[in-house]
Amino acid sequence: MTYTTLVDPCDLPKRDVNLEEHHTATISTASAAECFRDLVHHAVELGVSDLHFTPASDQSIDVQVRLDGVLQPFFRVPAAIADQMPGRVKYLAGLRTYQTRFPQDGRISAEEAPHGGDLRVSTYPTIHGEKLVVRFFHASQPSFFEDLRLPQNTISALREAVNCPSGMILITGPAGSGKTTTIYAALAELTGRGDRHIITLEDPVETQVPGVTQTEVNPAVGLDFATALRYILRQDPEVIVIGEIRDEETAAIAVRSAFTGHLVIATLHAGSCQGVLERLFDMTEDNYAAAASVQLILNQRLIRRLCPQCAGQGCADCLDSGFSGRVPLAEHVRINEQVRDHVKQDGPRAVKPDTTMQLASATLIKQGITTPEETARLFGDTQIDSE
Ligand SMILES: [Zn+2]
Repeated sequence: MTYTTLVDPCDLPKRDVNLEEHHTATISTASAAECFRDLVHHAVELGVSDLHFTPASDQSIDVQVRLDGVLQPFFRVPAAIADQMPGRVKYLAGLRTYQTRFPQDGRISAEEAPHGGDLRVSTYPTIHGEKLVVRFFHASQPSFFEDLRLPQNTISALREAVNCPSGMILITGPAGSGKTTTIYAALAELTGRGDRHIITLEDPVETQVPGVTQTEVNPAVGLDFATALRYILRQDPEVIVIGEIRDEETAAIAVRSAFTGHLVIATLHAGSCQGVLERLFDMTEDNYAAAASVQLILNQRLIRRLCPQCAGQGCADCLDSGFSGRVPLAEHVRINEQVRDHVKQDGPRAVKPDTTMQLASATLIKQGITTPEETARLFGDTQIDSE
C-alpha cells in the first residue's frame, strides 16, 4: 500500500541500528559532495520529508530532519566543508551557484537521488549564509480512498462528492496534513472511471498520474493559479484540481467553474470546516454562488503515533522522539440543501461537522495510540474531552 507521495514513515523499512553511532560513523565529511550524498541516503532510510541545512554563526551547518511532521536535530556539517555545501547542492539542482543573495528553487532529478524520487531544493539567504531546504518526493503508485485510513463516513462523503458532475470539494489543513494525498486519491478514483477530462494546477506536481493533464504553476513566467485557470477553461475540462485557492481571482474562477458544470477540487487555508466557508466568502463577492457551489468541506490532520518499539520512551528507531508514523484525523461537512438553507440564514457558522477531529483524537488517546501532549501540539490550546 502506498499512502502518500511524500515519504510516509509508516511504509518505509525501519533501521535496525543506533542512529547516532550509525550516521556519525557513516556520513562522510571528506567533502561537501560526499557529505550531502550520505545525508540524503540516511534521510531516505529514516523516511524524513525534509532535510534542513541551517548555517550557524561558527561557519558550520546544522542539519535537521522533519520526521512525522516535526523538525529534529540530525547532524552538524563541519566548517571545513560547510562553505562548499550550498554550491554543491545548487549545482546538483541546476541552480545558479554564484547567486547567493536571492532565493532560488530547483530540483534534483530522480536519477541522481538514492530513493528513486525527485528532491526539491529551496535556497534562502540568511545573515550567516544560505539556508537550504531539501524536500523528498517519492515515485509511487497513486493511492485510493481506502488507502487514506480516513474514517469510513468521510471516505463515503468524498466518493459521493467526486462522483458528482459538478460542484466544489474544498480540503483544508496545515502543511503536511495529507491534503495532497487525499487529492491524488480523488484523482485515482476519477481516472478509474475514465470518462472525464481532468486538469490539475499544482505547486508543485508531486506525483504523475496517467490520464490526467497536470501543470505546475510557474510565477517566474507569470503562470500563477488565476492566470492558468483562465486558460484551463478553454481546454474543455470536466474536472479541475486547484492546488490552492489563495486569492480572489482564483476563488472567483473556481466558484464560476463549479457553478457552470465543472467539478472543482481545491485546497484552501483555514483551521476548520466553518473557516473554509468564511475564507471563501471573504474572497468572493457572490456568496450565494459560493455557497451553492460547495459540495463537501474536509478538514484533516496527521497525528503522531507512539513508537511501537519503545512505547514513547524514545529509541533509535524514532530519533528519541517517542513517536513513529502518523494517523490521519478528519472531519467533514456535506453541504446539502438543508445545510445551504442554514448558511443562507446564519452564514458560515451553520457549517458544523457531525464528528470532530478532537473527538477522534480523544479515542486514539484512550486506545494508547497517541498522547494528550501530541494532541495539544496538533490542536494548540483546544480542550480535549477524553470521555
Ligand atoms: Zn521509539
